[in-house]
Amino acid sequence: MNKPADIFPKVISHAKEYGYVFPSSEIYDGLGAIYDYGQYGVELKNNIKAYWWKAMVQMNENIVGLDSAIFMAPKIWKASGHVDNFSDPLIDNKDSKRRYRADVLLEDKIQQYQKKGKTDKAAELETAMGKCLTENDLAGLKNLILEHEIVDETGSKNWTDVRQFNLMFSTQMGALAEGSEETYLRPETAQGIFVNFLNVQKTSRQKIPFGIAQIGKAFRNEIVARQFLFRMREFEQMEMQYFVRPNAEIEWYNYWKEKRMNWHLSLGIPAENYRFHDHAKLAHYANAACDIEYEFPFGFKEVEGIHSRTDFDLSRHQEFSGKKLQYFDPELNQNYVPFVVETSIGADRMFLLILCNAYTEEVLEDQSTRVVLKLPPVLAPIKVALLPLMKKDGLPEKARAIFDDLRFQFHCQYDEKDAIGKRYRRQDAIGTPYCITIDHQSLEDDTVTIRFRDTMEQKRIPINGILAIVKEELNEEKMLRGI
Ligand code: ATP
Repeated sequence: MNKPADIFPKVISHAKEYGYVFPSSEIYDGLGAIYDYGQYGVELKNNIKAYWWKAMVQMNENIVGLDSAIFMAPKIWKASGHVDNFSDPLIDNKDSKRRYRADVLLEDKIQQYQKKGKTDKAAELETAMGKCLTENDLAGLKNLILEHEIVDETGSKNWTDVRQFNLMFSTQMGALAEGSEETYLRPETAQGIFVNFLNVQKTSRQKIPFGIAQIGKAFRNEIVARQFLFRMREFEQMEMQYFVRPNAEIEWYNYWKEKRMNWHLSLGIPAENYRFHDHAKLAHYANAACDIEYEFPFGFKEVEGIHSRTDFDLSRHQEFSGKKLQYFDPELNQNYVPFVVETSIGADRMFLLILCNAYTEEVLEDQSTRVVLKLPPVLAPIKVALLPLMKKDGLPEKARAIFDDLRFQFHCQYDEKDAIGKRYRRQDAIGTPYCITIDHQSLEDDTVTIRFRDTMEQKRIPINGILAIVKEELNEEKMLRGI
């Protein structure tokens, strides 16, 4: 059940209208590809990060967390290959003056061929593009764009040559008098894990295989920034580096592919909206790599990368720092530089996936339209809304008493303004899974009505049963067990 392309603008305006996402610096006309999270957005994003952290760190005894700094010694980015290689092929359209990523233009063309059933043409173009990217053949990329008659959004085929553009933001560190040094805002969180590998291994007494997980900001000066949260210049990553024995990496790569897909599916997102996509061009550090792709309203796109990074990073840091980054394996009685399997997912891209998947417009029996965010309950910003039917006769006091109890367990909201139907719609629009209505009968027999967001079904339940019902409905334990 994929969503039509035209819901994307609706998702963007809904996100703004209901306090999920605001364009950053809006009163100064915004800043390209930078966004702020509003009162519900911050909750949803925190819940996504918490669910990832639980699945990684809490559920795996051999994975521990880390929070490394954004600024790192500049030499790290030389060692990692980012200074020399972290660039995208850029192309401009001479007529529209619009800027594009050459590989993205070609990927979109491949998808168009696939959609039209021209699978041979799609495969041929994918192979040719992979070859050009591997060989850094920029003229070859331009030829493919011309050969396949790729046009820009205005229909123009008048392209410049392709050139490489480094995506790292640089800045100066230290006062000028001291002789400041050029450094970078990290473009990925992974390097903070690699350079702390031995610190963590020794202090946690972990044995290989083990993992280090980290959530944090990353910065990339992206060439094209026109897809809302999909491609941002400041974003957050949730990364886990798994350290394994040499030659065991492909086995663990396959293991993490399956585990990570299970994590996505545990959120109740339909499996047909997901697929794996093997990389046509392997990065300079990888010997196997794939993406988990989700069918966004604008097509199947990467949401998470799984990479077998070999011993590239640790070996390079060993070389550039002059410090040993080796592990003594007591079972093999041998020292070695571990191999690494990485899982890397964007918190913001996952947020966008969740919003696109949740956004639903339903025509009701009375022909009115209900807009509802069918968020996985465990991720919903507000879990329970407490709604007194009327603003009198002691109903607000009763509702507040329940609210004061429940908020120790869940993020709840109390709302007494407007007619009950309007309040339900408000909660539907922000994705609250359970509404509790308090009426006159509640005063007599301590029961309330619980309304379920997705079905709009209503049930009479005892007040002292709310906690158990909501906990069971949220179902987090079952979800985590299923991964
Ligand atoms: P793309 O090909 O889309 O540029 P990538 O292959 O460079 O992505 P990785 O370096 O593998 O991405 O980063 C891991 C994850 O970080 C991605 O799967 C994505 O979810 C997220 N991510 C990367 N770049 C951005 C960005 N500019 N904005 C938001 N999320 C991003």
